[in-house]
Amino acid sequence: MGLLNDILSILKKHEISLKEKYSEVGDIYTFIFETKEEINWKAGQHGIFTINHTKVNKPTRAFSIASIPSEGHIRISMKISEKPSEFKQALLNLQPGMKISMRGPIGSFYPKNKRPLLFIAGGIGITPYRALIKDLLLNSGEISNDIRLLYIDSGEEFIYTEELDKVSKIFSIQINYLIKRENLNEEIEKFITKYNNEAEYFIVGSKSMINAIEALLKSKGIKQKNIKKDTFVGY
Ligand SMILES: Cc1cc2nc3c(=O)[nH]c(=O)nc-3n(C[C@H](O)[C@H](O)[C@H](O)COP(=O)(O)OP(=O)(O)OC[C@H]3O[C@@H](n4cnc5c(N)ncnc54)[C@H](O)[C@@H]3O)c2cc1C
Repeated sequence: MGLLNDILSILKKHEISLKEKYSEVGDIYTFIFETKEEINWKAGQHGIFTINHTKVNKPTRAFSIASIPSEGHIRISMKISEKPSEFKQALLNLQPGMKISMRGPIGSFYPKNKRPLLFIAGGIGITPYRALIKDLLLNSGEISNDIRLLYIDSGEEFIYTEELDKVSKIFSIQINYLIKRENLNEEIEKFITKYNNEAEYFIVGSKSMINAIEALLKSKGIKQKNIKKDTFVGY
């Protein structure tokens, strides 16, 4: 993949049409899109989505693709508050069959080595991990099987839980649903004590959350090259 691939990929515009939309929990919604052409992406990547069925202020946003190609659709999930942006309101108004466009896929938010993995998700930052975990399940022979997901949401609005719990029963991935930051920090420190720089550390969430966790990792001696971040700009 890499920068050149990202540049080439972002030049490609795909038309995608809404298959279904539903509320997950609280103010979190999932949208599932179908495509006529084949789009290939790597678990952990994101797309650049543009509304074109109606005129909105700032019609483009990035969203992690929460599905894997073999599921045959593009799944995105997001928080939509009572007073959403025009972009999100337009998405909510979409009806099955209506189209938007996606550029990409882009990004390199995925493991490259067979090493222990610590996945840290802040709230809606769980989206790329759904894809990453499904992908690891498909290729479980290739990747280290010591994988831990720490999923924190202070409002307890956890999504994809049924699927995640099912995966953790058939695959050695440990999942912790956490509400308090101090418990998250404790779990992170336990993992560091066990694996230190032998592991890769992934963080997804708001900028402030990522900054705090990255500072914690670095204060414990984790090297920058072992930390991967996907910052959900806009939250
Ligand atoms: C690589 C990448 C991947 C991403 N993947 C996802 C994803 O999978 N799911 C996802 O939901 N988002 C994702 N995002 C963020 C997404 O692109 C939007 O920026 C985000 O959802 C905010 O959307 P919005 O601007 O439509 O605002 P809305 O969420 O509708 O919010 C409306 C307004 O309220 C403000 N606001 C919203 N939340 C807060 C808050 N907590 N505190 C203070 N102000 C707030 C915003 O500034 C905005 O102006 C990703 C971003 C990047 C860069």
